[in-house]
Amino acid sequence: MVVIRGATTIAEDNAEEIRKAVKELLLQIESRNGISRDEVVSMVFSSTSDIHSFYPAKAAREAGFESSALFSAQEPEIDGGLKLCIRVMLFVEKNITPRHVYLGGAKVLRKDLSGKMNIAIDGPAGSGKSTVAKALAKEYSILYLDTGAMYRACALKALDKGTNLDSEEEICELMRDLRLTVEYENGMQKTVLDGKDVSEEIRQPRVSMAASTVSKYLSVRLRMAEKQREVASNMSCVLDGRDIGTFVLPDADFKFFLTASPQVRANRRFDELTAKGYTVNYEELKDEIIRRDEQDSTREIAPLKQAEDAVRIDTSEMTIAQVIAEMKRRIQEKI
Ligand code: C5P
Repeated sequence: MVVIRGATTIAEDNAEEIRKAVKELLLQIESRNGISRDEVVSMVFSSTSDIHSFYPAKAAREAGFESSALFSAQEPEIDGGLKLCIRVMLFVEKNITPRHVYLGGAKVLRKDLSGKMNIAIDGPAGSGKSTVAKALAKEYSILYLDTGAMYRACALKALDKGTNLDSEEEICELMRDLRLTVEYENGMQKTVLDGKDVSEEIRQPRVSMAASTVSKYLSVRLRMAEKQREVASNMSCVLDGRDIGTFVLPDADFKFFLTASPQVRANRRFDELTAKGYTVNYEELKDEIIRRDEQDSTREIAPLKQAEDAVRIDTSEMTIAQVIAEMKRRIQEKI
């Protein structure tokens, strides 16, 4: 007798989704393990507490597992646990080495078995990228890499040293001895520049435009993109930025491009900065956002641009929860 584990996720809690997901999961388990239905003695399902509309065991019965003893149970609600997830344990009368199967969002439960996934989110300032990127990273228990923070750190260094931002040569020279690392503390990204945690300092409004200016330069971009690719090649992560889907990770598993009207984006940034205690002039902020987008979109190397295969979402009229739900739906659809 062997025990085979499996898990999958559904996009929405409804009977059709559950039937479809269970059928697909069992088919995959059968084919990857080379087992037949009559060898499956028993199956025990569990589903997360947000699933109410149908028994996974019933879906298995409908999928043709007629002779197995079936059982479904509901799991307790766990903080930070995967949502809308169905797990299964199959007891099989056969002497084989089990191959466990993890599909959909459940892939993140066993990255060792199911490979890694990278989600690229690009878009202009204030389009909601970082908020949704953090939420998705939490949802799938994967890393969030804020690539803008890296350009901001380069800019901070240049500002602090009084380097002429318009001189590519001087910036290039400065980058030679740049010590920039991205670390994680309690799941939060910490940007460390020359040994100092600058995570808060880089959020200052004066750094935003400077980041856009230094990020035009080839030497800066190549250096940052290399670091970003290194992180993404080692683990599953959500990266947000301007050129992730087009330049840094053109093969990312999922690509999104978020937009919103300049008005909405300026409102969001205004609220964000004032909440942090900065005094900002709304009109100046709006003007800065427009100029920054213009500079980011028109630069020669890896400009802010939607990848051809990215899903575009205009977040102007959407709540954060709606944007996240839409992205999860798209991810689920593609998995
Ligand atoms: O996203 P954030 O506003 O923190 O980015 C600051 C600046 O860094 C952007 O305006 C852009 O010029 C630059 N950036 C970039 N490529 C990225 C991320 C940010 O050029 N992938």
